[in-house]
Amino acid sequence: MKAVTVLGSTGSIGISTLDVISRHRDNYSIYALSANTQVDRMLSQCQKFLPEKVVMVDHDSADKLDKLLKNSEATSHIKVLSGAKALESIASSDKTDVVMAAIVGAAGLPSSLAAANAGKRILLANKESLVMSGDLFMQAVSDAGAVLLPVDSEHNAIFQSLPENYQSGHSSQGINKILLTASGGPFREFRYEQLIDVTPSQACAHPNWSMGQKISVDSASMMNKGLEVIEASWLFDVPASMIDVVIHPQSIIHSMVSYNDGSVIAQLGNPDMRTPIAYSLAWPERIESGVSQLDLISISQLNFEAPDKKRFPCLQLAYEAIEQGGNAVTTLNAANEIAVKAFLEEKIKFLDIPKVIEFCLEKMDNLELLNLDIVFESDQQARKLAKQFIIDNIKI
Ligand code: NAD
Ligand code: MG
Repeated sequence: MKAVTVLGSTGSIGISTLDVISRHRDNYSIYALSANTQVDRMLSQCQKFLPEKVVMVDHDSADKLDKLLKNSEATSHIKVLSGAKALESIASSDKTDVVMAAIVGAAGLPSSLAAANAGKRILLANKESLVMSGDLFMQAVSDAGAVLLPVDSEHNAIFQSLPENYQSGHSSQGINKILLTASGGPFREFRYEQLIDVTPSQACAHPNWSMGQKISVDSASMMNKGLEVIEASWLFDVPASMIDVVIHPQSIIHSMVSYNDGSVIAQLGNPDMRTPIAYSLAWPERIESGVSQLDLISISQLNFEAPDKKRFPCLQLAYEAIEQGGNAVTTLNAANEIAVKAFLEEKIKFLDIPKVIEFCLEKMDNLELLNLDIVFESDQQARKLAKQFIIDNIKI
C-alpha cells in the first residue's frame, strides 16, 4: 500500500489523480490533500478518501472546512492545517511515499522542493517549479535520491520513448532530437489581427484538453509549449537546440524521440491526463486509468505543421530565456504568471502578454541561479516589474 499526498487536489490534475486512485484503493491510500480556497470540493474529497491531513492555504477556508468536517463522525479525525508552510510538511512527511505536485504556478515550488529534499517519489505536474529553479531542483532530487516522474503529457510521453538508461547521456544513447508536440491551442488558425480582441473565455476553450485557467491561457499563447521546452531541457538534460516543437492539432501523439538511425519512437493515446498520471503512479508497471482505448480508424488522420513564432512570440521568448540562462527562466515564468492573471482579469489584452514578458526579460539583471534565494528574489523582482509595466504602459 502506497500513501499519497495530492498537492492541489481540487484542481484539474488533482481531480484526475483522485479518479485514478479511486480505481486502485487496494494499492493506494491518501495521506494528505491540499487546496487554496475550494472548501466544498475539498469536503467531498475528504468524505470519499478520508485523508489524515488536509491543508487549506487560505486561513478562512481552513476554519470553514474544519467546522464542516467536525460535523460528521466519519471525518472528525481529519486534521486541517492552513498556510503555505503546511504544504511543505505534508509533502515531506514520513507518512507519505508519493507526492503529486499539482499546485499551479510558482506557489508550488516550496512544496515540490520539500518532497524532493525528503527523497519522495514526486509526480510532477507543476512545471513552473522546475522551469523557475532549473538545475537546483534537479540537484535536490538527485542529492536526496528522490524519484522524479513527469506528469505533463509530453514529458511523460518522452519518458516512455527514451531508453531506460537515458540519464547516461544523450549522445551515447543515439538520441538526435526530442519532438515536443503541441495542439496549437484554440487560436491556431487565427490571423494576427484576429488575436487582438480575443477574450479570456475564448482563450480557455481548449479544443482537446480540459484544464485549469492558467495553463489554458498558456496553451493559447503557446507559452505552455515554451515552458515545456524548458521543462524537457532540465528533465532530460538536453539543450533547447535539440528540442523541436511540432504542431499536431489532434493531440494523439503526445511527443516523440528521434534517434540517429532514423527511428522515431512516439507515445500515443487519447488526450486525457489520467494516462500520464496512472503511468507515473505505477511506473514501471501499468495500471488501468479509466481512459478509453485509442481508436485509430475513427481518428483516421494525424496532421503536423511548424509553429508560427511570429503570431505566438511567447514560444520564441522561452527559447531566448533558456539560451540566456541564469535567472532569465525565473523571470520569464514570473512575468508570465502576472500577465496571465491580468489578462484573465481583463486588465490587459491577449497580445500584451508577450510584451510584459519581453520587457521584464530586458530589464532584469541576469544572475546565475546559484541558490534558491536568488530564485525567490528574482521571482519577486520580476513580478514587481511586470505589475509596474502593466500600470504604466497598458490601459484598457
Ligand atoms: P487548476 O487551476 O485546475 O488547479 C490548481 C490547484 O492548485 C487547485 O487545487 C488550487 O486550490 C491550488 N492552488 C492554487 N493556487 C494556490 C496557491 N497559491 N497555493 C496553494 N495551492 C494553490 O490547475 P491544473 O490545470 O490542475 O494545473 C496544475 C499544474 O499542473 C499546473 O502547473 C499546470 O501547468 C500543470 N499541468 C496541468 C495539466 C492539465 O491538464 N490541467 C496538464 C499538464 C500540466
Ligand atoms: Mg503538456
